[in-house]
Amino acid sequence: MDWLYHRSIFDFDSMTDLNKDLRQYLDQNYSLHIPMSTKKERSFDGTIKWMIDQGESQAIEAVYIPEKNRGTLCVSSQIGCLIDCPFCATGHQGFNRNLSSAEIIGQVLLAKQDLQNEFKRDDLITNIVFMGMGEPLANFSETVRATKILTDPNGFNISRRRVTISTSGLVPQIIKLADHVNVSLAISLHAPFDELRNELVPINRIHPIESLLSACWFYAKKQNLKTVTFEYTLLKNVNDLREHAKQLAKLLKNRPAKVNLIPFNKFPGVVYEPTPPDQINEFRNILLESGIMAITRTTRGDDIQAACGQLAGTVNNLAKKSLRQKLKKTLN
Ligand code: SF4
Repeated sequence: MDWLYHRSIFDFDSMTDLNKDLRQYLDQNYSLHIPMSTKKERSFDGTIKWMIDQGESQAIEAVYIPEKNRGTLCVSSQIGCLIDCPFCATGHQGFNRNLSSAEIIGQVLLAKQDLQNEFKRDDLITNIVFMGMGEPLANFSETVRATKILTDPNGFNISRRRVTISTSGLVPQIIKLADHVNVSLAISLHAPFDELRNELVPINRIHPIESLLSACWFYAKKQNLKTVTFEYTLLKNVNDLREHAKQLAKLLKNRPAKVNLIPFNKFPGVVYEPTPPDQINEFRNILLESGIMAITRTTRGDDIQAACGQLAGTVNNLAKKSLRQKLKKTLN
């Protein structure tokens, strides 16, 4: 791990403090390589997006977002996504397969190497968020393995609180996660009551809001988290009314919660429209007045389709019917 993650050596023969037999064994049984980026795009705001080849004409995306005091890398956990949220470009692409922990970590290695080549610094990635393509908790064991490498002192040695797993709300997996890693948790909430969330985040039909929030408070308590982050993408006249803000405040009042309000980023083929900025402010003020911590997330990289909800990659969809169609059939 030291050779790989601290010294960036990707050739077993150069790992000179390992004995020769072991080096030979490793060489014969394992391979080391950093994945290939087929396209690199740069936003006017400094955000960088890599498209990464996954073989079989498929690709995932990873995004680096530089800020004043930190640099966040947003990684993908699956090729596509089955959850099929209708306002998300990844969901529209369908689903092909889970990524291995090596493929998740490969995104970090690629970004680190590329940033090092360009800026001559190896400390630019300070935070990792599992908010790229896919539902990380639907790829539980590989997400956990990758997370352990990210936080291990012999690995990337990133502080546990600077790694965030974001989920649409797989309740049993959130509870199970507490037994495996202690990292920050974010929930794609997007609606304050079940009827609306069933549409916007279809997994809600299996794991409704009440059970989801109980799992969050359980995780926060067990892992001693100050807050769980609730992501809320504002869609014009869908989930952005005063009533929605009040209901959201009621759900989260006196709980270890903070809300990230996300301006909607349009992509081709989507019917939703963004909420105007003054209405986003009004929504936020209602939350703040109710004592709920809330910030409006600045849109980054939307000119290169790298903003929240815009990651698409290239996915050979194997999910013949979307989760939404399947859920409608079984639950309606
Ligand atoms: S928002 Fe997340 S869970 Fe929903 S479709 Fe997109 S990637 Fe999947």
